Amino acid sequence: IVSVRDVHKSFGGFEVLKGVSMDVKKGEAICIIGPSGSGKSTLIRCINALVEVTKGSILVEGQEVNDPKLDQLALRRKVGMVFQQYNLFPHKTALQNVMMAPINVLKQDKREVEERARKLIAKVRLTGKENSYPGELSGGQQQRVAIARSLCMRPDVMLFDEVTAALDPETVKEVLVTIRELAEEGMTCILVTHEMKFARDVADHIYFTDKGVIVEHAPPAEFFDNAKDERTKTFLGQIL
Ligand code: ATP
Ligand code: MG
Repeated sequence: IVSVRDVHKSFGGFEVLKGVSMDVKKGEAICIIGPSGSGKSTLIRCINALVEVTKGSILVEGQEVNDPKLDQLALRRKVGMVFQQYNLFPHKTALQNVMMAPINVLKQDKREVEERARKLIAKVRLTGKENSYPGELSGGQQQRVAIARSLCMRPDVMLFDEVTAALDPETVKEVLVTIRELAEEGMTCILVTHEMKFARDVADHIYFTDKGVIVEHAPPAEFFDNAKDERTKTFLGQIL
């Protein structure tokens, strides 16, 4: 569903991605892990064309995302993204935040969107918080609203960039549970995470990045127990 082919990305003279390739099949959950500054965020931003690649190709459902003729809106609808900063609209309720994009951007029928939004709020386990404002919710609850908001566009692929990094330890788990359920239901997920236990449990495949290259990739059992590259071993040694 997503195919990344020899992608290079430079900012100014600095090459952040140095020929990255990756294949994600429909229904898979992929975790990208690696040291800070290794290009993880840049890579997933390339997938929904928030960042333009310098060289190489990225196909989402067979469509080149850097094709200047590509319908950006259609791509953004297909590829949902959740960031570390959830950026909810503070003066809108949880329900209104979830409903906003399908109504304003996709011009969908309000009643239909509301029904979908309420189901999604239940799905992320926030029933009863529909009318709460972001300021009345915990970080983990806000992040789950952000996930529901993204799902309300009915994406085919979800990108998650360190979505639990800014949360209190107690609320990390509830967000990870939500993502795990999504992955188990067959949503294609590409996640950047520092949560190794989660990666091990949920991912079908782990990619390890360092200095703009994919050093190695493998199914989690093999990756965590039998890493081959010294850089991977060093990294895992520091964090596990
Ligand atoms: P972290 O784990 O800290 O989030 P990361 O692996 O996500 O790191 P990136 O955010 O992709 O790393 O950044 C990789 C490198 O690219 C960094 O050196 C960063 O300073 C640089 N970089 C990222 N975005 C830009 C930009 N818009 N302009 C210039 N340099 C950038
Ligand atoms: Mg990052």
